[in-house]
Order: sequence, then C-alpha cells, then structure tokens
Amino acid sequence: MVGLGVIGAAISWRLGEGGQPVVGYDRFRAGHPFGSSHGAARIIRQAYYEHPDYVPLVQRSWTRWQELERVSGRSLLRQTGGLMIGPPDGELVLGTLDSVRRHGLRHAVLDAAAIGQRFPQFRVPAGEIGIFEDLAGVLRCEMAVETLIRAAGRARQPLAVVHDQVLRLEAVGERVRVHTASGTRDFAQVVVAAGGWTSDLLPDLNLPLTVERQVQVWFAPSSPASFAPTKFPIWMHQTEDGQMFYGLPAMDGKSVKAARHHQGITTSMEHLDRHVSDQDRAVVKRAVAEILPGLGSEIAQSSVCSYTDTPDLHFLIGRLQALPGVILATGFSGHGFKFAPVIGDLIADIVLRDILPPGLLATARFNL
Ligand SMILES: Cc1cc2nc3c(=O)[nH]c(=O)nc-3n(C[C@H](O)[C@H](O)[C@H](O)COP(=O)(O)OP(=O)(O)OC[C@H]3O[C@@H](n4cnc5c(N)ncnc54)[C@H](O)[C@@H]3O)c2cc1C
Repeated sequence: MVGLGVIGAAISWRLGEGGQPVVGYDRFRAGHPFGSSHGAARIIRQAYYEHPDYVPLVQRSWTRWQELERVSGRSLLRQTGGLMIGPPDGELVLGTLDSVRRHGLRHAVLDAAAIGQRFPQFRVPAGEIGIFEDLAGVLRCEMAVETLIRAAGRARQPLAVVHDQVLRLEAVGERVRVHTASGTRDFAQVVVAAGGWTSDLLPDLNLPLTVERQVQVWFAPSSPASFAPTKFPIWMHQTEDGQMFYGLPAMDGKSVKAARHHQGITTSMEHLDRHVSDQDRAVVKRAVAEILPGLGSEIAQSSVCSYTDTPDLHFLIGRLQALPGVILATGFSGHGFKFAPVIGDLIADIVLRDILPPGLLATARFNL
C-alpha cells in the first residue's frame, strides 16, 4: 500500500479483514496536514448531485463507518442533516433531486422562506430552493484516519506500517519492486493511494490528474450556539454565477468551517502555496456574508489543502494495463473522504478477486 491517507488507511483495513497481509508505506504520520485528509471535519451526504451512482456506494460506506465506530469504540460520524441550496435549474439542485428521486431517499424540498423558518441562520436569495436530507453529517477526519490505521493494525491480517518515502515502482517479472529511501522490496501487488503525489510516483503514465489548491476557513461567530450540530446542518450553496460553497456546523462549539468547492488554481504538491492570503479569505467571507450573515467576518483559523482532480471529477480506480501488478485508488476530486471504507471494499475486490470497479470510477475510461 503506497499512501496511508484516508483512502490507503481504509483499503488496508478492508484488505486486512479480507485476510490479505499488507505493508503500508507513508512518509508522514497519520493525521498530517500535507495531503488531502486533514482539517478536522468532512461532509458525508447521501443525496449526491455529482452522479446518482454514488448513492449506493455512500450508503455502504455509511454502514462501514458505523462498523468502524463499533470496533473502535470511537465516535467518528455525527449526523446533522444536509441542505443543498441553489437556483432551481442549477447543477446542485437538479443533480441532488435526480439522485434522491432515483434512489427513493427521504428528503424535503424547501423554498427560501421555508428554509428561513426551519434554519433561521440562512438568508437564502428569493427564488432559490433547498433540498434537505436527514441522512447527512460530519466525519471527524484526522481521528477517522488514525482509527482506520489502528483498525487495520488489528485486522485478521494486521497492517505493517513503514514510515518511508516510496521513490519508484518497477515491474520485475510478475512482481512489483518498491524502491524506497532505505531499500527495495518486491510485492505481488501494489496499491497506490498517494493522493496528489500519484503522478510523481508514476511519471511515465501521463495520468489524467491535476492538483487543485483549496482553502478552508473557520469563522468565529459571536453566537456559536446557533451553529451547533443539533441546530445547523452541513450545507452546500451554488451561487447565481455557478460557484459552489459549503460549510459544516461548529463541531468544537466555537468555530464554523466554510469553503469554496473547486475554482482553485492548478498546481503540484511540490509547488502548492500553503500560505492563506487575505484574498483567499475574502472569497469565502463574501459568500458567507450573503447566505449566513450570523457567521460574521472574524476568522479563527484557515488552512490550505489540495484536491486531486480527474477531468470528469469522478474517482480513478483500477488495475493498470501498463503495470498489471499496480492498482490505482486516486483522483478523488474533492469528494472522496466519505467513501473511503467502500473504496477499501472495491480495492479488496480487485486485489483478492479481480472484480472490476464500477465503470463510472474505472481507470478503463481513460484507457489506463
Ligand atoms: C479542503 C478539503 C475539503 C474536503 N471536503 C470533503 C468533504 O467534505 N467530504 C468528502 O467526502 N471529501 C472531502 N474532501 C476530499 C477528501 O478529503 C479527499 O478525497 C481524501 O482525503 C483523499 O485522500 P487520499 O488518501 O487519496 O489522499 P491523501 O490524504 O493526500 O493521502 C495520500 C498519502 O500518500 C502519502 N504519499 C504520497 N506519495 C508517497 C510516497 N511516494 N511515498 C510514501 N507516501 C506517500 C502521503 O504522505 C499521504 O499521506 C475534501 C478535500 C479537501 C482538500
């Protein structure tokens, strides 16, 4: 396993429980802030505007997160409900409605006034609507990664963690040689879940991946109690000009996270600008002032993170034709966290049983 962010950690857990011994390489410790899996909290939602085929996957994932809570005795998933707001003819509203109707998900369609009555924190522009679902919430992200690694370490075949940088992969007959800073080791199969570093590790393959800079901001409202998870859902808002913003409740009782989804500059992990500028903060402040005036403009904290995008923003999973011992699990395009356990199951299916991943997510769509 190359990479033990949320995806590699979850794959290691599912492989170990499937009886497959795993050696997991990561250059950093669990919960580190250099990749895509940090920042306290992640949204999980079942209504899925991106594509209705994600709904059964997120439902399986939800069950796995609960299983992980049971085996670890830790609370990782907090149900808060979710509200998707935007113009009725926008991608967010149309896609959400399509997914909830196709899969019969429990939901309510609310106009701007009804949103204001149910959630007085929101001031929604007249003419926009919202779709509310109760089966949405928040995952505690660093804790989730650490818990997945711990569960993998206690699985039927326990994960062996190696803190080392993988420098290169090389096909040697039917096996794959992993070159690290401290030596080489051969494996029957190698799963690469290296996030934004995946293309650096497999430079000859011209993988269809780009690294996108993202900024997360935590507001310090004067009355944080009105943004408590019992009163305030996770939300997304598509603005009139098509931009998407999202946010979460005050999980720590004090600060409320909000951010823009996509529209970040294309970069690389090596050149990622990790400094949050006034301009970065201003983008989120403006959007939040319009829809959540009670959040105010005081910012408690901010941080830079990165998305690893594919051209169609669907994940990139599957065995590589050019290197058949290598399996990719990458390209999570800013929405992969919630799916980590089910990605673990899909990769275990490939490694243990050679079952192909769903076509929507498959490497085959890019002839890889
Ligand atoms: C700001 C932000 C908000 C997000 N919000 C949500 C959300 O609300 N809901 C949701 O579902 N998703 C969300 N996402 C997306 C989700 O967090 C990512 O899809 C997910 O974290 C990707 O995990 P990963 O394991 O693929 O990558 P990473 O977490 O980056 O892990 C990759 C790991 O590989 C290791 N690695 C890389 N190369 C090597 C090497 N050569 N040798 C050794 N180790 C290596 C790295 O050290 C790293 O630990 C968000 C992402 C960001 C950035």
